Amino acid sequence: MPEPAPDSPARDLEERERHPLAMETLVPLCASRGFIYPASEIYGGIAGFWDYGPLGVELKNNLKALWWRRVVRERDDVVGIDSAIISHPRTWEASGHVEHFSDPMVDCRTCKRRFRADQIEGERCPEAPRQRAISECDLTEAREFNLMLRTELGASVDDAMTAYLRPETCQPIFSGFKRVRETARQKVPFGIAQIGKAFRNEITPRNFTFRSREFEQAEMEFFCHPSTREEWFAHWRDERFRFHRELGIGESLLRVRPHAADELAHYARAADDIEFLFPFGWQEIEGIHDRGDWDLSRHTQYSGKELAVTDEQTKERFVPMVIETSVGVDRTTLALLVAAYAREEIGEGDERTVMRFHPALAPIKAAVLPLSKKLADPAQAIHRDLRKHFNTFYDDAGNIGRRYRRQDEAGTPFCVTYDFDSAEDGCVTVRERDTMSQDRVPVEGLTSYLRDRLEEGL
Ligand code: ATP
Repeated sequence: MPEPAPDSPARDLEERERHPLAMETLVPLCASRGFIYPASEIYGGIAGFWDYGPLGVELKNNLKALWWRRVVRERDDVVGIDSAIISHPRTWEASGHVEHFSDPMVDCRTCKRRFRADQIEGERCPEAPRQRAISECDLTEAREFNLMLRTELGASVDDAMTAYLRPETCQPIFSGFKRVRETARQKVPFGIAQIGKAFRNEITPRNFTFRSREFEQAEMEFFCHPSTREEWFAHWRDERFRFHRELGIGESLLRVRPHAADELAHYARAADDIEFLFPFGWQEIEGIHDRGDWDLSRHTQYSGKELAVTDEQTKERFVPMVIETSVGVDRTTLALLVAAYAREEIGEGDERTVMRFHPALAPIKAAVLPLSKKLADPAQAIHRDLRKHFNTFYDDAGNIGRRYRRQDEAGTPFCVTYDFDSAEDGCVTVRERDTMSQDRVPVEGLTSYLRDRLEEGL
């Protein structure tokens, strides 16, 4: 049989069937281990909102820290900001969101549900999934529905001002461009980055955190001369792909998908998506966009403030072009959870679930486990020392095998066991998560031993 084309539905289906992990396995594991669970869970949850628990927040923070390190701290030509979530409402007129940030929606006249017109193909009616596809329901014509979440500012209803929770983090980067360039003493080409919350009133939030109404983005806007836009676009696409590989995501689960001309925003010259193979198919986790001079020109037009720059050597005055990299922190965290999950046999009929996170991303770096509660004092002293350097965890409850299993499920790369020989030889046993191999390590050199191994490959 001929190979299905890379983007064909048949190929996606085949790959979905081959995927070793079902969302039905991952979602409960995330809740029971405290990675991610529904927001307002005791009230039945609220669609499109999720809370990160003690393990989830560490994983997500480690991801953000690595992004910040690679994109901002290790480069001379990118600086960071942290802007307000609410901008002057004119911002969203200038950006085109008030007019254009919408999805075509259809309503079902029978059950009153609303669906995205471009997402109903192949979907069953949620009211009667056995009887009909959504396309066979009594649907209205498609109507545009704005995805921005509104709020009112001001003390009284009469003089309230409508504002929006930002649907993307990049607009304050454009409106603050002049201030940041001058204060950071940067010259084009250079970039401005930020990580923060974004909000979209998605009509069909689904696939766990993949499509949420509140999510985090890590965005970088790189300003360059028009003659170098293609070079910078290729540079950033390659850098960003490398980043996802560096997170420990295998090559077979990642691909770059260039947008066809009819998918591009009207102002964009080029866009490439970095996609991950989720259990529900190939989906975007990051977009790299050539946005041209759209943003700076529009903010100049709407604010009346000039945002062009002058090349000091040639004295040429120009509006910089923008190459954007925009990654979803939640979607990437979900990709990390999918990629890390493994269920394996470990002999004698025993099985374990293990989350093989890259050690630099793992929520807990090391667990300190005394072999017996009688050894608690010296083990706790080691824990107190290690926690100054890494996120560590102390556990003396249950047999040692069960304690290892718990740490495997949390993705902890190292377990440090204090046993009855430790007081005499001054050493502990360090068990490595993936190979389960054990090393005897002097307590004195434990911090630097762990630090070296945690940074391996970074
Ligand atoms: P999609 O087509 O899937 O709705 P998009 O093309 O609108 O995504 P962008 O506007 O390019 O997405 O946003 C950049 C990144 O922000 C995306 O690659 C994704 O990782 C993240 N993102 C966008 N919308 C959501 C959402 N509703 N929930 C979680 N992450 C999101």
